[in-house]
Amino acid sequence: MDLRSSVELNNGLAIPWVGFGVFQVPPGEVTYRSVIMALEAGYRHVDTASIYGNEKSVGEAIRASGVPREELFITTKVWNDDQGYEKTLKAFEASRARLGLDRIDLYLIHWPMPSRGLFKDTYRALEKLYRDGLVRSIGVSNFLVHHLEELLKTAEVKPVINQVEFHPLLFQPKLLDFCRRNDIRLEAWSPLTRGRFLDHTVIRGIAERLGKTSAQVLLRWDLQHEVVTLPRSTKENHIKENARIFDFELSDEDMKALNSLDEGRRIGPNPDVFAG
Ligand code: NDP
Repeated sequence: MDLRSSVELNNGLAIPWVGFGVFQVPPGEVTYRSVIMALEAGYRHVDTASIYGNEKSVGEAIRASGVPREELFITTKVWNDDQGYEKTLKAFEASRARLGLDRIDLYLIHWPMPSRGLFKDTYRALEKLYRDGLVRSIGVSNFLVHHLEELLKTAEVKPVINQVEFHPLLFQPKLLDFCRRNDIRLEAWSPLTRGRFLDHTVIRGIAERLGKTSAQVLLRWDLQHEVVTLPRSTKENHIKENARIFDFELSDEDMKALNSLDEGRRIGPNPDVFAG
């Protein structure tokens, strides 16, 4: 396996197991250079969002890289203010124009925002974009089990992905199991805990024993849970380090030790209340 290795989504589309995240990466030179470094290191999957403000730079880097478009998997997301059927269709066109792409590989609802009650209408717009061939797959982000249950009552096209905060301190085995049973692939954001727990004794202990880094152990944990993972970095050494996760394996014992770090601890907001 390597950075090009992929897994089949429920609609038959292949998604590379590892994607390059660009949240909080400043638009312009920094995003451009980071995406170029990632593509040169072999990443073939980039995860952006309209709210990140860097879709234009991602698109420029993709074109400048010379990597054939068909080798790439590009995700973007509809932001909270743009939820609703018509607004989402408009927001999609704006994202597509900024990225400079004919088609997006995966379009996600960024947050469920249950208090506004718009995610079903928003999802209908995603279904239209999918049927019109403008997106190759559609899904959701930050959906808890009860949001998914609600959506699945009316969805005509099953979401392929649920992208959520996921790392050993927020393991969410019930959500993982629900997604598995419903053939919705889980995708991990903040897989590196935004760097906050790389010094955790258990994580560092496993890494040192295996001659790996904490970051590599965390990303490997995702893969062994069959979760697509999205590390972010603007540093070339980290970008390369985060890609070297295919040459080792975590034992059942190590997996259990990491699973047991679960504290339900969120770095980001709780999807039930976040309406940002
Ligand atoms: P990550 O968990 O990927 O952590 C990124 C941080 O870790 C950066 O500060 C980076 O610093 C550092 N880092 C990266 N690699 C290493 C390494 N090998 N050793 C030490 N430190 C390292 O955080 P994100 O929150 O960005 O999550 C990843 C991606 O998930 C996002 O970029 C975005 O695409 C997606 N996401 C989606 C959300 C959603 O609501 N759907 C919410 C949040 C994120 P440095 O640059 O210095 O390497």
